[in-house]
Amino acid sequence: MHEYSLVQALLERVEETARSHHATAVHRVTVRIGPLAGVERDLFHTAYQICRAGTLCGAAELVITGEDVVWRCEACGAEIRAGNVLACPTCGWPARLAGGDALLLERLELEVPSHV
Ligand SMILES: [Zn+2]
Repeated sequence: MHEYSLVQALLERVEETARSHHATAVHRVTVRIGPLAGVERDLFHTAYQICRAGTLCGAAELVITGEDVVWRCEACGAEIRAGNVLACPTCGWPARLAGGDALLLERLELEVPSHV
């Protein structure tokens, strides 16, 4: 299950960011996962609950947001929604995936002491 290694990498990244901001705790972690990211949201959540123990995310809520699958024409830049023919209606150029495969740390809410 690669969700566990993804969560480990996420937690490392979060801790790194939290430390650089002198945060004492993390309140909320928001992650964006597109439907084409190849990540099982439930597994990601479960992995998070297990892996966060002992980290700054020990009490942090995990919020998973999604994104739409979007294709784009490489020639004219027109946006082509998934479900249509994956070619530009204007140019006939094959569409390129422009959204839906995201897996990124979108937002971090940190507890930072007022005077450091
Ligand atoms: Zn086009």
